[in-house]
Amino acid sequence: MTYKAEYIWIDGTEPTAKLRSKTKILADGADLPTWGFDGSSTNQAPGDSSDCVLKPVFSCPDPIRGGDNKLVLCEVYLIDGTPHPSNTRAKLLPVAEQYADQDSWFGIEQEYTFFQAGRPLGFPVTGFPAPQGPYYCGVGADEVFGREIVEQHLDACLAAGLKISGINAEVMPGQWEFQVGPAGPVEVADHLWVARWLLYRIAEDHNVAATLDPKPAKGDWNGAGAHTNFSTKAMREGYAPIITAAESLGEKVKEHIAAYGYGIEERLTGLHETAPWSEYSYGVSDRGASVRIPWQVEVDQKGYLEDRRPNANCDPYQVTRVLVDTCCAALEK
Ligand code: ADP
Ligand code: MN
Ligand code: MN
Ligand code: MN
Ligand code: MN
Repeated sequence: MTYKAEYIWIDGTEPTAKLRSKTKILADGADLPTWGFDGSSTNQAPGDSSDCVLKPVFSCPDPIRGGDNKLVLCEVYLIDGTPHPSNTRAKLLPVAEQYADQDSWFGIEQEYTFFQAGRPLGFPVTGFPAPQGPYYCGVGADEVFGREIVEQHLDACLAAGLKISGINAEVMPGQWEFQVGPAGPVEVADHLWVARWLLYRIAEDHNVAATLDPKPAKGDWNGAGAHTNFSTKAMREGYAPIITAAESLGEKVKEHIAAYGYGIEERLTGLHETAPWSEYSYGVSDRGASVRIPWQVEVDQKGYLEDRRPNANCDPYQVTRVLVDTCCAALEK
């Protein structure tokens, strides 16, 4: 007997990488072997030396095919055994390892937008829907679009054993959010990439495209972000380390913006619950700041901070790498 392993990897599309996958049939009980693909079709290699290597790094039950079938997230390697330049997970591992004793946790709020027939789900054929206001966490067919997909995706993530922690309808029609975490810097990103793959795959069956475009509708409509909630053991035990971490982020603004997803200037304008991308700020309860310290965290004098800057289309391996690198280095002093 056999099972199906869906090998999933991140490609080399610029400026924002996409997910790819293909299926391998394996004998029951067989381990997940290294595999390969045509890198010339994924912006990862030239045609005359096109072979790239897929190295399984995380697997879970496949909730779509069911049974013993698996989803297999891979890192991409060159045939000489070194990580492919597009392999950002390989760049995260040594940083995560260096600061492992600080026990970083992440909770990432993945916003996304459903599209059908070239417009956001719920947008009329011509013109625009009623202005933003009733859609966020709304209920009812006039305010909520795509819930059956969202519910299927939540069930699939749970069945796969991913650390999904919630969902909500967002401010713009057709826009939604799911949260992954808390989990460590590598695990949260692995789970988020597989959860994204499941979202695209399930929406496909409904003839709907899910997009992580950070500004899917121009004009007076909210963009899509990936607020990243972050804590270390010290931050979970006291308030001073939270301030230290928030201050440290102000010293590395450019480096963080560069790691937070393409097109961030279009989303972080200072409007629509954002702070301007070029001006770093932090504050308690402030959804107009770059970094928010939740109200309850100030009351408890311990907890976490929320970096509100990452775009929906960010690469979570890069986001967790720079946060650990900046904040854990500052907290070590
Ligand atoms: P918001 O109020 O900004 O919409 P959400 O409830 O959508 O926040 O997301 C908060 C995320 O933060 C969740 O994924 C949650 O698991 C995560 N989280 C909670 N506590 C911590 C912590 N100490 N460190 C890191 N992440 C945390
Ligand atoms: Mn072929
Ligand atoms: Mn949220
Ligand atoms: Mn949100
Ligand atoms: Mn948030």
